[in-house]
Amino acid sequence: MERIKKGDTIVVIAGRDKGKRSTIIKIHPTESKALVKDVSMIIRHTKPRRQGEQGGIKHRESYIPLCKIMPICGSCNKPCRVNSKMLDEGKRVRLCNICKEIF
Ligand SMILES: [Zn+2]
Repeated sequence: MERIKKGDTIVVIAGRDKGKRSTIIKIHPTESKALVKDVSMIIRHTKPRRQGEQGGIKHRESYIPLCKIMPICGSCNKPCRVNSKMLDEGKRVRLCNICKEIF
C-alpha cells in the first residue's frame, strides 16, 4: 500500500523546500522517491541541438525521498500519517490518522 500517490497534496517536512505545499507529479516506485511540483528545482542548461531550436536555462523538478514529504488530508487539511484499512470488498484504503477519514 503506497503512503503517497500521484496527484496527492503534500507538504515538505525536510530540506530546502521545508514547509512548502504542493502536489505529486510522479512517484518513483522502486526508489521511494517522488517528483513534486515546484519542489527541489534544479537548473538545466540546454544547448540548441538543431538549427532554429533555442538553447537556454530550464528549471525542472528533481526527485526527493518520500520520507521528506507528508500527505495532506483532504478532509481536515492537515499533514497526517497514513493508516490503512481493508474494506469489506477487499479493497485497501488510506485513512488520515487525525480525522480518521478516507482520503
Ligand atoms: Zn484528516
